[in-house]
Amino acid sequence: MSVMDIFETMEYGPAPESASPALAWIAGRQPFGLFINNQWVTPTSGQYIESINPATGKALAQVAAAGGADVDTAVAAARKAFVGWSGLAGHARARYLYAIARQIQKHARLLAVLESLDNGKSIRETRDLDIPLVARHFYYHAGWAQLMASELDGYQPLGVVGQIIPWNFPLLMLAWKIAPALAMGNTVVLKPARYTSLTALKFAEIMQEIGLPPGVVNIVTGEAAQVGEALVRHPDVNKIAFTGSTDVGRSIRRATAGSGKKLSLELGGKSPFIVFDDADLDSVVEGVVDAIWFNQGQVCCAGSRLLIQENIEQALIQKLRVRMEKLRMGDSLDKAIDIGAIVSPTQLQEIQRLVAQGVAEGAQLWQPSWACPAEGSFYPPTLFTNVSSANSIAQVEIFGPVLVAMTFRTPEEAVALANNTRYGLAASVWSDNINLALDVAPKIKAGSVWINCTNMFDASSGFGGYRESGFGREGGKEGLYEYVRPTWKTATSHSTSAVIHIAENHVQQLSQESVSDNGNVSGLPAIDRTAKLFIGGKQVRPDSGYSRDIYDEHGKVMGQVGEGNRKDIRNAVEAAHAARGWSAGTAHNRAQILYYMAENLASREDEFVHRLMKQTNCTQTDAFAEVQATLSRLFSYAAWADKFEGVIHRPPMRGVVLAMHEPMGVIGVICPDVRPLLGFVSLVAPAIAMGNTIVVVPSQQAPLSATDCYQVFETSDLSAGVVNIVTGERDGLSRVLAEHNDVDALWYFGSVEGSKQIELASAGNMKRTWVSNGQERDWFNMVQGEGKEFLREATQVKNIWVPYGE
Ligand code: NAD
Ligand code: MN
Repeated sequence: MSVMDIFETMEYGPAPESASPALAWIAGRQPFGLFINNQWVTPTSGQYIESINPATGKALAQVAAAGGADVDTAVAAARKAFVGWSGLAGHARARYLYAIARQIQKHARLLAVLESLDNGKSIRETRDLDIPLVARHFYYHAGWAQLMASELDGYQPLGVVGQIIPWNFPLLMLAWKIAPALAMGNTVVLKPARYTSLTALKFAEIMQEIGLPPGVVNIVTGEAAQVGEALVRHPDVNKIAFTGSTDVGRSIRRATAGSGKKLSLELGGKSPFIVFDDADLDSVVEGVVDAIWFNQGQVCCAGSRLLIQENIEQALIQKLRVRMEKLRMGDSLDKAIDIGAIVSPTQLQEIQRLVAQGVAEGAQLWQPSWACPAEGSFYPPTLFTNVSSANSIAQVEIFGPVLVAMTFRTPEEAVALANNTRYGLAASVWSDNINLALDVAPKIKAGSVWINCTNMFDASSGFGGYRESGFGREGGKEGLYEYVRPTWKTATSHSTSAVIHIAENHVQQLSQESVSDNGNVSGLPAIDRTAKLFIGGKQVRPDSGYSRDIYDEHGKVMGQVGEGNRKDIRNAVEAAHAARGWSAGTAHNRAQILYYMAENLASREDEFVHRLMKQTNCTQTDAFAEVQATLSRLFSYAAWADKFEGVIHRPPMRGVVLAMHEPMGVIGVICPDVRPLLGFVSLVAPAIAMGNTIVVVPSQQAPLSATDCYQVFETSDLSAGVVNIVTGERDGLSRVLAEHNDVDALWYFGSVEGSKQIELASAGNMKRTWVSNGQERDWFNMVQGEGKEFLREATQVKNIWVPYGE
């Protein structure tokens, strides 16, 4: 091309980054071994897999294909290293993390080029986004290692963590996994995605360079079926952290059910990009480019559904087509391109298949006039209009550069359309009216909401999903809790509660005669009082028409409760949904109601004491202590109701991120058998304090203390449907709750086997679960029985990004 030609066309010429240093690095090391104990070892299989450069389709490197035996070796190395690593002072771990961050920066260019070669993504993105964010993640978490002792007092590391990552942001996902795990004192076995192992292997070399103790980080490459599954099933792994597809996430949920392994899942999405008619359309167009053509659309939080206010649809689509026509596609190492290659031919075929399906379903396809490069895996930026929300392209995650556009009229319609998906990872809201944007943001069920911006990430601000986008957060302080557990969970614990002493010293002499079993006066038949179910604020008969007998300590029938069934649970869930207005009320109001409940319970203290003695054969002192602890607990959550607040992050941008604690929604709560009153209130109170509505299954053996609370609820102005109680066979009822698609989270305090069944059954809608795995808690103990662990389970964090400045 002559200077004159350039002058005529005003086209950019190619600006290639050299591949030579990266290719030389590969040539000097391949075939790559596994990284175990800071050594390079050959895979036991003797087999290697090929990694290709998607922009050319040509082979790039040979990478070890590990098998189960290699995973065993890596886990053993990590186990051995755990003692020393977790025993280091926080400052020592901070020094290592800091050294990693520094080293990443020193090798930034090599890492960026390797990433582009292996994945097909543009060098502009790897250089300016992936790698700087990787360094930032290690710096940020060096800080948390330093502060762990003071800021996570009462928590300990989990042990060996298995981490499985996808190919779309290979090194960044590695950083999101490894940095918090190491900061909190865990050791790691990480499996990179099959297509993109190279930057993880360069990272391994960095571990050697900084002298990280052997076994703290192990990198095991290979196929999902050989490595991923072995890691998931390994008995000596304490946690699995996974990012990838919802289907695989679901299979991991099932495979780890009942194992006691902690689990965090960051899965797919179909995120809405909402444009109101007062938005600045030129900014919107650039936003759309970043939302769906960034990384070829292979982004879990890609803004793949463009929701446009009807009156500006034509104008925006027109502008968008003009912009699409100008997008540049090509080799990943060309600094002037906007769009690189799709990671693999298989992924390309999947995109083609879904697009063909969209066309077949009647949506209108538009693509720019220019042609894609002939070699390698490329797919053009694609826009669908005339899409209905039932179309598969509007529901299924395409994971490619394909945008579907739909329209709405009102903000309410926009919210409904945005939430019309199984997923809930992210959303963008565009409007020059900040009142409108901040009103809409909390109504969208998604972990991140970007106002007038999109695809923003920072280590300080947690990232993760609602609903089928998974559970758990990465980044922020909330992300740290995915890598720790309360210290008491392995240590022996004893009750420290002051209320025991109060009870011992001040036990009131209740007159045994004043209260009888069932209102029974000698000689006359008792006035029957069968506790019904409590649904939608009403006492209702069980659907089955059956009651179940409740026995006292002598095996004598002391009362009956309703025998709840599947239909009762469904009614209760419906009532809990109908009561979701509870979360829209003020925290002040919720606090008032919890105080009021304490007041009304206190006025019937003797009755509750007597009931506990009858049901559990405990002493009067013990029963009195349980009632006092229950009152204290109600006070605690009344106090927390307006104090468990979010935080404001200051990521490196002009603006703020509002990290808000949102209720989970509808929670199913399965109470422990022990402490029938205190156990029940210890779970109900935090759940409703945080704005959830709940369906509770009380202690199976001793449900009467819970059913006695009906009057307390009714006299405390608690709105109908906020607390629903279904008595009956606990594990059967809890299974129905776990399978229910309109239940957002499930708490289960029961057996090991019951915990497993809950985790298995919950995989349907990927609801978040909190199970006890048969471990008893001391409900009197202030550390085990109340506090932030409960509040965190009752909430999820939504990060709302609000940039400012003109
Ligand atoms: P995937 O879920 O199949 O793989 C992700 C990781 O899990 C890889 O390392 C893989 O080897 C491993 N893996 C796969 N099956 C496993 C199993 N049974 N047990 C343990 N580990 C297993 O995702 P993919 O094949 O890379 O991409 C397929 C689809 O997943 C994409 O089209 C996209 O929809 C989605 N995806 C989502 C994300 C995300 O960030 N949420 C990232 C990549 C892909
Ligand atoms: Mn590759």
